[in-house]
Amino acid sequence: MATHAFHYAVVAGGSMAGLLATRVLADHFERVTLIERDVLPSNYEPRKGVPQGRHAHVLLVRGQGIMESFFPGLTEELCAAGAVLVGVPEFAWLHAGHRRVRYHSDLSFLAMSRPLLEISIAKRVRALPNVTIQDGTRVEGLRHDHERRITGLHTRSVRPHRPADEIEAELVVDATGRGSATPRWLKELQFDAPRVDQIAAPVTYATSTFRRVPPLPDWCSLVITGAPARRAGFIFAIEGERWLVSLNAYFDEPVPDSHEEFLAYARSLPTPELYEAIRHSQPLSDVVHYHLAGSVGHRYERLRHFPEGLIMVGDAVCSFNPVYGQGMTVSAIEAETLHHALATAKQKGRLGSDFGQHWFRSIQPTIDVAWGSVQVEDYRFPELKDQRPYRIRPLQWYMERVHQATYRNPVVANQFYRVLNFLAPPTSLFRPRILAEVFAGPAR
Ligand SMILES: Cc1cc2nc3c(=O)[nH]c(=O)nc-3n(C[C@H](O)[C@H](O)[C@H](O)COP(=O)(O)OP(=O)(O)OC[C@H]3O[C@@H](n4cnc5c(N)ncnc54)[C@H](O)[C@@H]3O)c2cc1C
Repeated sequence: MATHAFHYAVVAGGSMAGLLATRVLADHFERVTLIERDVLPSNYEPRKGVPQGRHAHVLLVRGQGIMESFFPGLTEELCAAGAVLVGVPEFAWLHAGHRRVRYHSDLSFLAMSRPLLEISIAKRVRALPNVTIQDGTRVEGLRHDHERRITGLHTRSVRPHRPADEIEAELVVDATGRGSATPRWLKELQFDAPRVDQIAAPVTYATSTFRRVPPLPDWCSLVITGAPARRAGFIFAIEGERWLVSLNAYFDEPVPDSHEEFLAYARSLPTPELYEAIRHSQPLSDVVHYHLAGSVGHRYERLRHFPEGLIMVGDAVCSFNPVYGQGMTVSAIEAETLHHALATAKQKGRLGSDFGQHWFRSIQPTIDVAWGSVQVEDYRFPELKDQRPYRIRPLQWYMERVHQATYRNPVVANQFYRVLNFLAPPTSLFRPRILAEVFAGPAR
């Protein structure tokens, strides 16, 4: 029988970051309770608390690998449920009107709906013997002692007329996403709230699904982006023989509402492939929207004082412009980091009063990588008036050359994909071999 170093942990929020953190905590705590506001569905349907679930989601290769290591057999299970394994040759990425080179590679990713991934993981988490999922319950505040140590959560059922409740824990993990109330709760406890960084490139998603019927194109996933483009699009083959199509509108670009407008918008993209794939397909859903004001990062790692017994994960710490597909993978890397942090604490025999501060410092390098790639691409928009970090312009210039090299050169394309998928550090794009290949071709 497994021995656990610690007694009782509670996780607030049962989406991707909360589920993955729960999976890790279950290895280190005797009991783990996950509190989720929504009543979690058992079928693969989007839910209210995760409205982004209706829109195209890319699971990057590193994230997929971590999830497979937490839940052995998950990839096979997802494929059996209809997820589509996409290798580099079946993936078309049209960037600024050019197709990135196709080559044979060991890289592949899974295309599927977000609910298929999330609910499959939720089922696995629910099956863990020391985990309780208490859904239909809202977290209303942090429980604390007279020394301002966090000792659990105040909760309330979402069903009417239920009394408030509380739940005691040695460690509270806030995974309530972008709208996390922790900055407010910290102020109420007389702690400083974290500094908030923003990259205010507003983007709206318009999404619909279509029946996927022959004749099919020579790709099964297509991404159309620009440098920068105020209009972009994703189309993924997903379970149920469907196309999941998300069109992106930056700033004040008009957002398509009806199916006619959706097709017209698809047709207005710089290349016709996406439009051609759906123009004769039967729509299977309405056009749904999601608007995001940009990327938001809470700099918890900079706080000099942070309460004992609390950490945060996922979008509650940093939420990125979703078009780069990083959020779930960052949550997965954070879960892996949590495992190492708890293993170290186990050796010491205690979590320690500075566990939270160490935690934020240990996840910051991953956040910096993700934030850095958003900066490089989003700061290409002249509409963004913020002061750009001084290193951005040379990086943008070099990355522009990298993009151009990926249209023709498999070595550069492969390293680019590895960096994008968190399999290699961004600095690897500056290795002599890559530099030589990047500058071997003409600049456009
Ligand atoms: C349009 C869009 C597209 C995206 N595309 C991608 C993509 O392609 N790839 C990718 O990796 N990421 C993508 N993301 C980001 C990704 O969805 C998130 O990063 C990921 O879900 C991790 O978020 P999270 O679990 O921290 O928070 P969320 O997913 O926001 O979940 C928060 C959870 O907390 C619950 N909750 C909130 N408040 C309370 C409360 N008081 N009490 C109890 N429960 C509460 C909510 O119901 C919800 O279940 C996208 C995001 C958006 C908006």
